[in-house]
Amino acid sequence: MTGGPRPPGVPHWPARIAFVAAAVALVAVVLLLDVLTPLGAAVDGLYAIAVLVSALARLPRFSLAIVLAASMLVLSGLAFSRDAQVPWQIVVINRAVALVLVWVTYLLIQRIERARAALEQRDRELAERNARLARLATEDPLTGVANRRRFDAQLPVEVARAQREQRPLALLMIDIDRFKEYNDRRGHPAGDECLIRVAQALAAQLHRPSDLVARIGGEEFAVLLPNTEAGGAGEHAERIRAAVESLALAHPGGGVVTVSIGVAVTSGLAGPQGPDELLAFADRALYRAKDAGRNLVAI
Ligand code: GH3
Ligand code: MG
Ligand code: MG
Repeated sequence: MTGGPRPPGVPHWPARIAFVAAAVALVAVVLLLDVLTPLGAAVDGLYAIAVLVSALARLPRFSLAIVLAASMLVLSGLAFSRDAQVPWQIVVINRAVALVLVWVTYLLIQRIERARAALEQRDRELAERNARLARLATEDPLTGVANRRRFDAQLPVEVARAQREQRPLALLMIDIDRFKEYNDRRGHPAGDECLIRVAQALAAQLHRPSDLVARIGGEEFAVLLPNTEAGGAGEHAERIRAAVESLALAHPGGGVVTVSIGVAVTSGLAGPQGPDELLAFADRALYRAKDAGRNLVAI
């Protein structure tokens, strides 16, 4: 018995034990019929049913044991002929037919099992590939946070939920300050590295499973905070701003890499209505933060 979860289609152990017992009982019954009835070899083909039942237990070595035992019993019957009336040729033909029947059944089952195993393997590979595709479709390849597609799908869902449940929803628009200069003077790979560090800093500040951080443009990120009113959103934004500053990534133009953050909150009835208006409010707040000198939060 191997560890791990039961593969699909494999019966529980009580069922497997029942199939094992049934297969053994069938062998015993056929043997008794063979030995005790005048028909003798004429019933040996029924060993094939024992082989079939043994396959239901999904224990390959047990099936092999059953087919070998049945073969031996069929062959051993040749040694004693109980009915002198039956010509020996008939006995041999009967036994041979039974043997062929038993082995054809066994080999067919082997083929079916192999096909089933291949199918299960393909199912597993397909499931893995689907999971990878789903990740690729929703993840930003550079930073590992959600991508624009994911954000665009999630925003209307969260806005609708907030309006339906009359709960606040906060949106943070985050833009790296003076990133063009950083990129131009440090080079694109260094710029990419900076984006990764900033994305990690953002993600590290979010703890609820419903919070979403996404990279929605070159050096722009958005954070969705369901169930968060203006006060809490402002605190979150401030923590994020401080976390990026304390990464202490030296900026070629002096100082360190910082972000500006625009915050907008919809609370069902009050504030911006709908995803587009929420985005526009957050964008406007972001521009005010930039205008006011950068490395700031505006609500
Ligand atoms: P501001 O403080 O006003 O935001 O100025 P800024 O220079 O950050 O703003 P701007 O939008 O002009 O510059 C964005 C720059 O981001 C342009 C480009 O050099 C850089 N950029 C955009 N996408 C990527 C990317 O995927 N990788 C890298 N390394 N740089 C990028
Ligand atoms: Mg920008
Ligand atoms: Mg910028």
